[in-house]
Amino acid sequence: MVIECKHVWEHISGYLDGTLSDETREVVQKHLDHCEICSAILDSTRNIIILTADDHVFELPVGFSERLHARIDLEFPAR
Ligand SMILES: [Zn+2]
Repeated sequence: MVIECKHVWEHISGYLDGTLSDETREVVQKHLDHCEICSAILDSTRNIIILTADDHVFELPVGFSERLHARIDLEFPAR
């Protein structure tokens, strides 16, 4: 099973939270192993979560998802 980048992005928060099913996590992990774009997005998403966790706030900022997708559209308009 192969998934596209946009599907990986939908799963990134679940991936970091550990809420994905084993099957989905494995597919996402496999994609991340060979896709630099998604690895970079994962890294920046993880950094944001670590920053908020330091303040004992575990929820993502309001509008985070919209901003992430806007950023992705901006950086990868061809996708
Ligand atoms: Zn990708």
